[in-house]
Amino acid sequence: AKKAGGGCYHFYASAMTEQSQLRIRLEADLRRALERNEFELHYQPLLRLQDGTLAAVEALVRWQHPDRGLIMPDSFIPLAEESGLIRPLGEWVLREAARQGRAWLDGGFDFGAIAVNVSSRQLERGDLTATLSMILSETGLPAQYLELELTETTVMDQPEQARDRLYELRAMGVELSIDDFGTGYSSMAYLKQLPFGKLKIDRSFIRDIPDDSNDVQITSAIIALGHSLGLNIVAEGVETEQQRALLLELGCDIAQGYLYDRPLPAQALLQRWLKARPE
Ligand code: C2E
Ligand code: CA
Ligand code: CA
Ligand code: CA
Repeated sequence: AKKAGGGCYHFYASAMTEQSQLRIRLEADLRRALERNEFELHYQPLLRLQDGTLAAVEALVRWQHPDRGLIMPDSFIPLAEESGLIRPLGEWVLREAARQGRAWLDGGFDFGAIAVNVSSRQLERGDLTATLSMILSETGLPAQYLELELTETTVMDQPEQARDRLYELRAMGVELSIDDFGTGYSSMAYLKQLPFGKLKIDRSFIRDIPDDSNDVQITSAIIALGHSLGLNIVAEGVETEQQRALLLELGCDIAQGYLYDRPLPAQALLQRWLKARPE
């Protein structure tokens, strides 16, 4: 560190510098990772509770770092969002998911639909619809095989703008899901006006059912409320047989979680979950 005038000032200045240097290095790392194609998608199955058939798969990004190994999204998505790199990364994710979906279709496999997570920075840009329609035509994936997952916070950020954009996306034929439901503060009156088809109950509510009667009540209320809005309800983070049985009893439509499988590389998902499409 450079010599500074005052002792205290020096301490703070160099601490700040170290922090911002670390950030700059990580950012550069992320940028390089995009260029070197170090990201990959894993896919987790979503199953219909009634009959256990595959409803969809969720694409979840991982960073295959040459030195540090597999890095999970929670340790780089926030930085990608702050730095704006989420836009090129998000575009890569959309393109890779669409390419994979098209490849499965060509192979005659039934995957339901591929769900992709979209961050608020991608929605706020305003060119998501154009980018997406370019990707769909490039890859040849019909829009009905794609779902976009947006959190409550993402849509509540700029409600008016989000509404227009969601209608544009829905008009293209992609399905829209509310992700992590229950963790934000969206108003039902507002959600009712949006073209969502699915609601995913956050796994914090699922974790302690059936033991925690509060969480059972909340989950039950979300399911009833979602159904009254015509939404398909997905429970996230289903890990136990007891959770599965209760969710079925409560009328939940779809479940996702370690009880069934973890997110898997495309090839493993294919072997374990994909069946030939009916002719
Ligand atoms: P999310 O969208 O809520 O995704 C579900 C997360 O829960 C995944 O973590 C998944 O592996 C994990 N999970 C699934 N089943 C269970 C379970 O039974 N128990 C527990 N404890 N966890 C379960 P993952 O893959 O680490 O992703 C974390 C978050 O990173 C995602 O949460 C999402 O917000 C974000 N993310 C992942 N991929 C992308 C992406 O391509 N774009 C954007 N913008 N965000 C992404
Ligand atoms: Ca999600
Ligand atoms: Ca979620
Ligand atoms: Ca989450």
